[in-house]
Amino acid sequence: MFKKILIANRGEIAVRIIRACKEMGIRTVAAHSTADTESLAVRFADQSVCIGPPEASKSYLKIPSLISAAEVTNCDAIHPGYGFLSENAGFAEVCGECDITFIGPSPDAIRQMGNKSVAKDTAKAAGVPTVPGSDGPLTSEEQAIEVARQIGFPIILKASAGGGGRGMRIVREESDIGSQLRLVQAEAGAAFGDNTIYMEKYVLNPRHVEVQIIGDRHGNAVHLFERDCSIQRRHQKLIEEAPSPALDAKLRHKMTEAALKLARHINYYTTGTLEFLLDERGHFYFMEMNTRIQVEHPVTEFITGIDLIKEQISVAAGLPLSFKQEDIKMSGHSIECRVNAEDPEKFLPSVGTIKELYMPGGPGVRVDSAIYQGYKIPPYYDSMIGKVIVHAATRDEAIHRMMRALGEIHIAGVKTTVPLLHKIMHSAEFKSGKVSTSFLETFLKNQAAAG
Ligand code: ADP
Repeated sequence: MFKKILIANRGEIAVRIIRACKEMGIRTVAAHSTADTESLAVRFADQSVCIGPPEASKSYLKIPSLISAAEVTNCDAIHPGYGFLSENAGFAEVCGECDITFIGPSPDAIRQMGNKSVAKDTAKAAGVPTVPGSDGPLTSEEQAIEVARQIGFPIILKASAGGGGRGMRIVREESDIGSQLRLVQAEAGAAFGDNTIYMEKYVLNPRHVEVQIIGDRHGNAVHLFERDCSIQRRHQKLIEEAPSPALDAKLRHKMTEAALKLARHINYYTTGTLEFLLDERGHFYFMEMNTRIQVEHPVTEFITGIDLIKEQISVAAGLPLSFKQEDIKMSGHSIECRVNAEDPEKFLPSVGTIKELYMPGGPGVRVDSAIYQGYKIPPYYDSMIGKVIVHAATRDEAIHRMMRALGEIHIAGVKTTVPLLHKIMHSAEFKSGKVSTSFLETFLKNQAAAG
């Protein structure tokens, strides 16, 4: 097992990884920017190393600084968390060259899956259904129009290197294709340094359902059921749950088998998530794979009783999976709400100091966060300040437990999404379970209309 792990991340996920390491008897080093000197990760880790100024490009994304930090502190592994360098094949490669284990997939698996357009081709080759669209990247406006005519409008233009809900544009009419294509190309070039764009049919009112998998270096791979992440705002997840209210045993079997087929096809040996769109007729299509741990992993941990981060660390150290497929049982229902520091009406980040704080507790409630009373939220990073996750016997009980937990939260000093989350939990539409990725847009419109 590893002796010491460098955490190349910040916020709640850095804390989550440190917690797993402590319970495993592994020492930790928090790599942090000057903006995060007062972070919980720095307080909880055994050691910390400052890796640069606040801007992520000069700290959390700076490979030489992270490698030096790992070397001077004698770390034998690096955990990249999510975001930042977690899906960077170059980083995984450099770690390998420096004899530091990258807690994640091989550089090759990242290359095959990190680029969304290449990932779709790989999925097709593995026999997994994908959303109809262009065969690989678009090469010209004429070709884009031709493909759109074949698959039918509306279509969605997506950046191959996109992520985090960015780099996507929906096009409803042929006359808009050229201008939208140029726009999304420019946006993708600026945001991801890669202006490659591909096209997909825009599936109407789909659900976002994803399958959690984990493999080891001994050829074993299992799934840990699905998560439903249909409650999104601007293509970004806000509320996630497991299991999906839309899947029956038969559909679950089909989807998890498809996910495992793709994982085996690329000899995948760590945690990963295969994201699918599920249409109104019950057909599902592979959308992309995330080759890392995800924000919403706790809902899976709740329904399976498995600690995904510990298992991820243990398979990275070369140990075989500690369970077989038949050992993994699903129990109850879990819901996660992401708490963002922002003005929920305007969707603008709200930075400042947490003046007062009380986080919920009690039966079946878990809080993964990195804030504390007196903590100053730095303006440089993602606005997510924590997650509230609940577990109960049924979906209905989980919703009531979440309402109770959200009601206990008290955060003074910054505005948060808690009031919005509360309203969603209370809504008849969410309770019915019949939701799609367009839920929130409609919900907000109705709210506005109701005054
Ligand atoms: P990212 O990598 O930025 O998270 P994804 O490709 O996972 O982007 O898509 C994010 C969300 O955008 C999906 O969960 C879904 O709501 C929406 N979306 C993406 N592609 C399509 C599509 N072809 N049809 C309908 N919705 C889509």
